[in-house]
Amino acid sequence: MQVPRYWREQRERYNLTGTRCGACGHVTFPKRTICPSCRHESLGRLEDETFEGTGRVVTWTRVHDGLPGREVEAPYVLALVELDEGPRVTAQLVDLDAGEVEEGLRVEARFRKLGEASESGVIHYGYKFGPVTR
Ligand SMILES: [Zn+2]
Repeated sequence: MQVPRYWREQRERYNLTGTRCGACGHVTFPKRTICPSCRHESLGRLEDETFEGTGRVVTWTRVHDGLPGREVEAPYVLALVELDEGPRVTAQLVDLDAGEVEEGLRVEARFRKLGEASESGVIHYGYKFGPVTR
């Protein structure tokens, strides 16, 4: 029986798990099967790494169009976040006003409902980022 992709990826979605290369130390997100930095040197030497979920805003944009089928209310802020471990992820920023966003703003991952698939009724959860509160 084939396990649906959604369920296989569940752990990564909730934990921000990527890969650390045992050969060169390069860290990637999402997980890779080969290191993009040292390639064949990495074979058999990649290990899962779960990130803290904290980082900083590298750049951002304000999006004025909502996404069809998603419960994202426009306008919203989409940011490129550099995790403290190095990898960069694109995610929606939440719990702040667009005017509060600035380069270098400390943010942390928050797991939120992203939307609901109409036919299957499967609810998709994923990460968004908000200002660090701790
Ligand atoms: Zn490597």
